[in-house]
Amino acid sequence: MAREDYEVVMGLEVHAELSTKTKIFCSCSTEFGAEPNTQVCPICMAMPGTLPVLNEKVVEYAVKAGLATNCEISRNSKNDRKNYFYPDLPKAYQISQYDQPLCEKGYIEIEVGQEKKKIGITRIHIEEDAGKLNHDEYAGGSLVDLNRAGVPLIEIVSEPDLRSIEEVDCYLKKLKSILEYIEVSDCKMQEGSFRADVNVSIRLKGDTKLGTRTEMKNMNSFRSISRAIDYEIGRQVQALDNGGKIEQETLRWDEVSGKTFSMRDKQDAQDYRYFPEPDLVAIELSEEYIENIKNNLPELPESRRRRYLEEYHLSEKDAGIITSSKYLSNLFEEASEICGNHKAVNNWIISDISRILNEKEMDPIEIPFTADNLAKLVILIDKGTISSSIGKKVLEELFEKPRDPEDIIKEKGWVQISDENAIKEIVLKIINDNPQSVIDFKAGKDRALGFLVGQAMKETKGKANPQMLNKLFLEELRK
Ligand code: ADP
Ligand code: MG
Ligand code: ZN
Repeated sequence: MAREDYEVVMGLEVHAELSTKTKIFCSCSTEFGAEPNTQVCPICMAMPGTLPVLNEKVVEYAVKAGLATNCEISRNSKNDRKNYFYPDLPKAYQISQYDQPLCEKGYIEIEVGQEKKKIGITRIHIEEDAGKLNHDEYAGGSLVDLNRAGVPLIEIVSEPDLRSIEEVDCYLKKLKSILEYIEVSDCKMQEGSFRADVNVSIRLKGDTKLGTRTEMKNMNSFRSISRAIDYEIGRQVQALDNGGKIEQETLRWDEVSGKTFSMRDKQDAQDYRYFPEPDLVAIELSEEYIENIKNNLPELPESRRRRYLEEYHLSEKDAGIITSSKYLSNLFEEASEICGNHKAVNNWIISDISRILNEKEMDPIEIPFTADNLAKLVILIDKGTISSSIGKKVLEELFEKPRDPEDIIKEKGWVQISDENAIKEIVLKIINDNPQSVIDFKAGKDRALGFLVGQAMKETKGKANPQMLNKLFLEELRK
């Protein structure tokens, strides 16, 4: 059998860290990046005798996420203990939700190519994050940092509805964008705020029974997710083709070797001995409470996209790219407002800014410069102070060391030469240095003009005003 004979089936479990100020069961800060074990208390360190108190914001954020993904919100819900031992989990259980999650039966619509498809959301539940083990830090051993223990998470479980790497990519990006828009998570993947467990199985095309799945845990980059799935499909196809079978297991993706490795046999729910958390009361939500959150939900990417088509007349494609990220889209709106030229801002975002983000593997949230900086750049070009090719260099600078574009061009001596006399001098010099091009032009070879302008640009390191150059060259050549 070949790879084409199989259908790939995937389902994702996404963990998103909620951006509440404090942890889920205590009042410790959730701020990322603090010195190890400085944001801990007896509750999140699991001292005996301490009691958890549920942070109301966590419920609110999870309900927001549920409403934004078309879920039914449970009026009655509860917390459960999921028991397992690991050194980053001092309680030896995680408080999660088992059979009564806050949100169920939703979906997210994705668009792959021209095709629209609904991906089912099985459930969204709340739970606490574990601590972090730092390996080989001390005497060859590992040290535990409990700052992350008790940071609130939502887990968003999808139905096994995903059929290709593109669909997975699209689903994850859409989900991330929704969570960013409704401001429940900053979704910083490098900080682990948005990470996915990827379940993959294959079956022969036409089969109705699902194949055995493997699960790759804690993936936090789009690129590695795509690579890992591709590798895993190949591995499963080969195993089945060789008459073997797939073991249900947890895998670890290794970025360097580009392979998956077995971590442990998959645990079943029964191994976790779930039971209702006795230290917390059940969660009861009133209809008004849910209604109120629904009515105050911020604008979602899809409606913003439609607004851009009508309000700014952006192309479908550009509107899609810009609104795919709340940060890009805020940058677009704010910079357009300041400089009054949304066409130019649109172009910068979809061409150069997107290219640089891609090259640097950066997320829009990490863009270091402000909307004001970008607006200034547009204004400087519109006023003719700099050319657009110098503008590109200014943008690179803004990514390197963000500051006022006006300061950048002064510092670098990039101000455009728009003084007619100065440009005329350059034009005469270039004409003088290139007699053959002058002859060519007079013989009707228009390309010669382009060459001469190019030489003048080189001479001025891109600083000459191109319209003026063209005009003066034509005047001189036609004399
Ligand atoms: P857990 O991994 O915690 O035991 P579930 O049984 O709820 O949880 O399933 C987890 C995920 O695996 C879900 O997103 C589901 O869509 C996906 N999944 C389940 N069965 C398969 C399968 N045969 N192939 C691919 N994905 C699957
Ligand atoms: Mg799982
Ligand atoms: Zn604490």
